[in-house]
Amino acid sequence: MFKHEIPNTPVHNTPPLFIEVSGSHREMGRQIGEAARRQIQHSIENAHVLIDAAYDTLELTWEGARIQARKYLPFAEERYPQYVDEMRGIAEGANAAFDDIVVLNAMEAVTVDALHLTRCTSMAVNDERTADGHVLAAHNEDWIPEDEDDVLIISAKPEREPPFLAMTYGGLLPNVGFNAYGIAQLIDSVYPNDSRIGIPRLVVARAVLASRRISGAIGRTLVPQRAAGYNHLLVHESGEIYSVEASARKFEILYAHDGCMVHTNHYLDPHMKQIEKDPEELLSSRVRYFRASRLIRRNEKHTIKSLQAIQKDHVNVPNSICNHNIEGADPLDREKTISALVIDLTSREMHITWGNPCQNTYHTFHLDA
Ligand SMILES: [Zn+2]
Repeated sequence: MFKHEIPNTPVHNTPPLFIEVSGSHREMGRQIGEAARRQIQHSIENAHVLIDAAYDTLELTWEGARIQARKYLPFAEERYPQYVDEMRGIAEGANAAFDDIVVLNAMEAVTVDALHLTRCTSMAVNDERTADGHVLAAHNEDWIPEDEDDVLIISAKPEREPPFLAMTYGGLLPNVGFNAYGIAQLIDSVYPNDSRIGIPRLVVARAVLASRRISGAIGRTLVPQRAAGYNHLLVHESGEIYSVEASARKFEILYAHDGCMVHTNHYLDPHMKQIEKDPEELLSSRVRYFRASRLIRRNEKHTIKSLQAIQKDHVNVPNSICNHNIEGADPLDREKTISALVIDLTSREMHITWGNPCQNTYHTFHLDA
């Protein structure tokens, strides 16, 4: 049921834009900016519309958003000047204002999470739970429908950091992907009540892609002076799977004792639950979590295909794992799956859809390191 004819579900006949970049962070940013100028400018326009539509809730203008975002910049600059440089390069390459790129990358902070955006579903299985002994990680990226046009795949060879392959959209720093050291990161929004002005979440997540060891990746999610936190599902090619639930000041580390992990947008750890903002608004996250957990445990051995089948699941549609934007009316509750990806960490490949995975085909990209 619901397999066909779900409204507002675009079909794309090509892969998303694929960009190969290398060099210094400023240069890589410029290369991304030039190649994705249209997508980046479009994502800034989308953010304008979003801020305008939420004015009654947030009383925030675009200029106000720029002022707010600027407060986070010194924290990012102090800890990770290279990623601020990457943002500068993106702005230069895309002919966009640097301040606007900063707003995009601090959007969750400047809107104090009032938009409750990004309701992703992440999963991982290790070598003991796959038919071919590969380590797999899967992620549905849920975001505002307009940004589906802006999905990008970036293959990067930074001068002094590990090469990586990542999915992003518009002017956002790349963060969901894996690197040449066999470390993958999937991120899910969570809603802590201890957020503060500090290093924006996306900058924290960007830095994880530069990790060379799993302990280093965990450490990077917990960097001091972080503004808030995501859930970072971290996978190592050895089959080690962690989920780091972070907030601005607290964290818990979950481990995949039975070789698989599922995470959505609510905290699982009881201590983290205590600092969750508006947990009663996160019901569909719980439904997706339990559904994906059951589906992932139903198979003794998984394959890329069996994970993709879970990514297409429509139980509780439109707020299903394959998330659809059917009503489409409420500006504060509009989102859909804009991309679904399965990472085969063992063969260093990403299989990725542009748009809902129920209607779009997976395209394969390889990281040549
Ligand atoms: Zn679907």
